[in-house]
Amino acid sequence: TWDYAPAPESAELANLKPAYRPFVNGEFTDGAGEPLKTVNPATGEVLAEVGTAAQSDVDAAVVAARQAFEKTWGPMPGTERAKYLFRIARLIQERSRELAVLETLDNGKPIRESRDADLPTVAAHFFYHAGWADKLDYAGYGPDPKPLGVAGQIIPWNFPLLMLAWKIAPALATGNTVVLKPAETTPLTALVFAEICQQAELPPGVVNILPGAGDVGARIVDHDGIDKIAFTGSTDVGKQIQRRLAGTPKRLTLELGGKAANIVFDDAPLDQAVEGIVNGIFFNQGQVCCAGSRLLVQESIADELLDKLRYRVSTLRLGDPLDKNTDIGAINSATQLAKIRELADSGEAEGAHRWTSPCPIPERGFFFAPTVFSGVHQSMRIAREEIFGPVLSVLTFRTPDEAVAKANNTPYGLSAGIWTEKGSRSLAIANRLRAGVIWANTFNRFDPAAPFGGYRESGFGREGGRIGLEAYLDV
Ligand code: NAD
Repeated sequence: TWDYAPAPESAELANLKPAYRPFVNGEFTDGAGEPLKTVNPATGEVLAEVGTAAQSDVDAAVVAARQAFEKTWGPMPGTERAKYLFRIARLIQERSRELAVLETLDNGKPIRESRDADLPTVAAHFFYHAGWADKLDYAGYGPDPKPLGVAGQIIPWNFPLLMLAWKIAPALATGNTVVLKPAETTPLTALVFAEICQQAELPPGVVNILPGAGDVGARIVDHDGIDKIAFTGSTDVGKQIQRRLAGTPKRLTLELGGKAANIVFDDAPLDQAVEGIVNGIFFNQGQVCCAGSRLLVQESIADELLDKLRYRVSTLRLGDPLDKNTDIGAINSATQLAKIRELADSGEAEGAHRWTSPCPIPERGFFFAPTVFSGVHQSMRIAREEIFGPVLSVLTFRTPDEAVAKANNTPYGLSAGIWTEKGSRSLAIANRLRAGVIWANTFNRFDPAAPFGGYRESGFGREGGRIGLEAYLDV
């Protein structure tokens, strides 16, 4: 119980409609697929019915995208494309409260995060790429680089609108058109984004949104009219897509899973590190590909750091995601909750020490209390597998070499964190870590100008920054 009144954001701000439909060639259409129901993970109640795409809808979307590529968007000067992207960015800002509430309802993330992190970053991504649209000659690829054509884009449920922005903004800035499939549990904000495309008077066919499950994704991947696939999701599905594309001329970029090390040295500013560790693993309930899910702490400070960490975690408020005071919202689905439970139980069974925050858990909805495992060994599943939930595995090290060896002891390589007062040490360690994104004395900081992407089983290709444009250009 809290001694101040909770301040829930009104669900009505989301302008929730009973039904949502696929968006093809600038119009909302009845998809020929079996409609799906999307639920509010905080209550388990159905939010809306969503039309899904069948093969005929995928065909129609690809044809529309091809025509737009050849007739309107592809030939359009970059200065004109930029105007549309700036318009989209401003419309996202105008509708950001509605979109934030809708994202929280569909995904379960705290409103504080969708309002202060997701939505501003989404708008920033469109502004940033709008700025590139008329400057591609200066992107370092030689004069007049060419778009690839029609991009098929498949995204996960953890940052529904932000992953859409990471996909659509660079594709459009470079003159490509897109057929995008949102995740089956979080299709709503993508379909409001389709409304924004209409409001911005984007030419029909430039953006097509096809809700549905993995079979719709597979149809997009297999379609002959697609020139490039950009996928963000699990490593397993990423590998399946890679196999399906073998022997075709289609381009591919993959943003997959992670098991990031957050390394704390004995000279680190400890209170700041605690905040960074908490943000690293509990932001978005830990359902973050670059989550700092493995804490590597120098042995001499491990006890002190763990005490501070447990105290701080016990103050996190779990509950109604629409409450502006909530730190930890709902897990996105019952399936994901079951996966987190299974992996956490394996940690206990393999002998790690389990500590759970004493926060009360709501009776309905999909919730999982913040959990910290200490005494974790590298061989344990909780040290090796991506949990994608609010579960931290703590390991210790004695020397910098041991820290580097343990941090790199994973098939993944998406991100890492380093906490130390010594700048020289940050740089030296960063150069030895096999990870695409490395933060020093901070964690989970994103900027559209900074390329994001992985090594090894975390995928290949970069999104964001000048380098991110390369994934959508022929030079
Ligand atoms: P998922 O792979 O199950 O699904 C991702 C998307 O792929 C969904 O839209 C899904 O419908 C679709 N899909 C499923 N099977 C498919 C198939 N055979 N062909 C084509 N598409 C198919 O992943 P998820 O559970 O939605 O997301 C969680 C995963 O995403 C985690 O592993 C996480 O690390 C990863 N992720 C990575 C990044 C990154 O940038 N590296 C960002 C967010 C999430």
